[in-house]
Amino acid sequence: MRPLIAAIRTQYLRDNYLLAKRQHGGRVLAVLKANGYGHDAARCAQALADVADGFAVACLEEALQLRAAGVSAPILLLEGVFEAAELAEVERHRLWLVVQSEEQLRMLEEAQPAAPFRVWLMLDSGMHREGFLPQHYRAAWERLQASGKAESIVKMTHFARADEPTVPMTLAQIETFDAATAGLPGEESVANSAGILCHPRSRRDWGRAGILLYGASPLPAGFPQGDALKPVMRLRSRIFSVRELAAGEPIGYGNNFVTDRPTRVGLIAGGYADGYPRLASSGSPVAVDGRRSRIIGRVSMDMITVDLSDLPAAGIGSEVELWGDTVSVNEVAAAAGSIAYELLCNIKRAHFVFE
Ligand SMILES: *Cc1c(COP(=O)(O)O)cnc(C)c1O
Repeated sequence: MRPLIAAIRTQYLRDNYLLAKRQHGGRVLAVLKANGYGHDAARCAQALADVADGFAVACLEEALQLRAAGVSAPILLLEGVFEAAELAEVERHRLWLVVQSEEQLRMLEEAQPAAPFRVWLMLDSGMHREGFLPQHYRAAWERLQASGKAESIVKMTHFARADEPTVPMTLAQIETFDAATAGLPGEESVANSAGILCHPRSRRDWGRAGILLYGASPLPAGFPQGDALKPVMRLRSRIFSVRELAAGEPIGYGNNFVTDRPTRVGLIAGGYADGYPRLASSGSPVAVDGRRSRIIGRVSMDMITVDLSDLPAAGIGSEVELWGDTVSVNEVAAAAGSIAYELLCNIKRAHFVFE
């Protein structure tokens, strides 16, 4: 068996979820879009079934996979529906949906459901990606209410920069939200992971916890709220070949690394076809049998070369952690010029083990 393993520690997922609940108060949706940020959405939903208040996914297709896996809890569609025909499935599977545009509002107004929907009405408080602008929000809410198609309306918005704790934009978005929704009845949902962890004023009726569930902090390193999270995925492989190179020898595609001393090189199974970022080049951290080392040479499709020169005990069969307990996915993301979200949701072909 190819020894690339993504171990998913479901107890850590539960611990992180419960930490989010304690921080936020009220209720918290566990965000499982993009196949649970690459962790297997159905398995994550099952692991959280007895603690989570509900789940959120991007779209109908993702929600139907969870329902097919036996998930009966509320599921919110964060992008809402893309065409009116989806509303029949939303109704059949008792899904909740975001309404964030004039087009989606009209689809709801024109629908003929047997029972009204549970709607989350999105305000654009400054991110300018989706939602109704503050000057249009009240009218959208009143139309939805008058249509009789909404059993309840949760007022919601989404942050652009909550992962930068000292940037004033998040507070400005909260103030915009409060002003635009003042006097409208119903529950509220403002906080994403970063809001839950470090923006107390964003904690309302419903939190929406994504990346924090998986144990990757959205905050800069050193924020204790983020550092208390437990990494759910541990991506590990094994050395299956070793070679000794003299100084001055190139390694891998493009010769972009040349040894500057006699070098022992370990070869591991794992590469960009598994979702490991190709841009995490020479110097990116790994841990060999628990000791930190680094990638040397380019990441290729199926294999990665690592420096064993200072690890004489390491050899064929040694375990290499690509991220997990010793090397954080955030460190690898920084080395690759990316973010933990992207790295995690790209992982595939690895053997997934749930423990
Ligand atoms: C993805 C998403 C979230 C979760 O964001 P995290 O930063 O992963 O916590 C919350 N709300 C909306 C609308 C989203 O699209």
